[in-house]
Amino acid sequence: MDNNRIKIAIQKSGRLTEHTISLLKKCGLVISHTKNQLIGYGENMPFDLMFVRDDDIPGLVQDNLCMLGIVGMNEALEKKIEIESSKEGPANFEMVSNLDFGQCKLSFAYPDNSGYENLKNLKGKTVATSYPNIVTDYISKEGLGINVTQFSGAVELAPSLGKADLICDLVSSGQTLKAHNLSEGQTILESTAVVIKSLQAVDRIQENWVNKLIERIQGVLQVKESKYIMMHAPRASIDSITNLLPGTESPTIIPLEGTNEIVALHVVCKENIFWETLEDLKAKGASSILVVPVEKMLM
Ligand code: ATP
Ligand code: ZN
Repeated sequence: MDNNRIKIAIQKSGRLTEHTISLLKKCGLVISHTKNQLIGYGENMPFDLMFVRDDDIPGLVQDNLCMLGIVGMNEALEKKIEIESSKEGPANFEMVSNLDFGQCKLSFAYPDNSGYENLKNLKGKTVATSYPNIVTDYISKEGLGINVTQFSGAVELAPSLGKADLICDLVSSGQTLKAHNLSEGQTILESTAVVIKSLQAVDRIQENWVNKLIERIQGVLQVKESKYIMMHAPRASIDSITNLLPGTESPTIIPLEGTNEIVALHVVCKENIFWETLEDLKAKGASSILVVPVEKMLM
C-alpha cells in the first residue's frame, strides 16, 4: 500500500456505514470498492477507506494506522478515557467535527418498579455497561460509589440475569428498554458520529488534503439546512427584513430598473425557512420571494 495515501477508518457494516459513505461522496470522493473488500480506494483524491468494526476505529487512529476515523462519539470517548486513565495517555487523536447522524444517548436504566431513579441512593449497587471507562469516570466524578461491571453485548439482560442492579447503555428510541422492563434514567452522554483525527505530525501535502476534507465535511453539514433567498423588498425595510432571516450574512442588494424604492435582495440563510417566515417577510413589504436549496458551500 502507498504510504502517502491517507487512510480513513469507517464502520464496515452497521448504523454508521451508509451515512458515512454518503458524506464522503458528497465531499467529492469517488470510491472504488467491491462488497467484500476491506479497503476502498479513493479514485480522485489520496484517501483510502478501511472498513472495520466501529469499536476498532479509535484504536486504529490512536496507533497511527489510520489518520482519520468516523465513529460514534461514545466509542471515541470510551477509548480516550481508557488511554488517559492508563499510563499511555494523553490520547493521540482529537474529535474535529460533530456529524448529523448516529444520534443516540448513553443513559442509565433501571428495572421498572425498583425505585432506583435517584443515582445518589445506589451506593454499593452494580451497573452493567459496554462503556466501563465513560461510566466509571462519571460515577467517580459524581461520587456515586456504584460498582461497574463490563458487558459486551445484550447489556439489557444483565439485571434479569442477576449480574447487575441497573445498566448504562445506548438508547435511541427506548423500545429495547421497554421490551426488557427497564426505565430510562439519567443520560450521561448525548452522542453523534464524529470525525476523529490523529495528532501525529504529517507532511504538508497530507496535511492540506486532511484540512480540505474536513472543510468540505463542514460545508456539507452547513448546506443541509441552508437556503438561498431572493425577493423584491422596499429599500427602507432591508434591515427589518434581514432580521427575520436566521443565520444570514450581509445581503446582496441589487437596484431594479425604473425604481429607487424597491430593490432585489439576495441572502444565504443557514437555517431552514418555514412558511411563517415567508408570511412575515411579505408583511414587511417583500414580494416575489423565492427560496432555493443550496447545493455546495465553502465558507
Ligand atoms: P460493529 O459490528 O461495527 O461493532 P455495532 O453493533 O457495535 O457494530 P452499531 O449498532 O452499528 O454498532 O452502532 C454504531 C454506532 O451507532 C454506535 O456506536 C452509536 O454511536 C450509534 N448509534 C446510534 N443509535 C444507536 C442505538 N439505538 N443503539 C446503538 N448505537 C447507536
Ligand atoms: Zn461495535
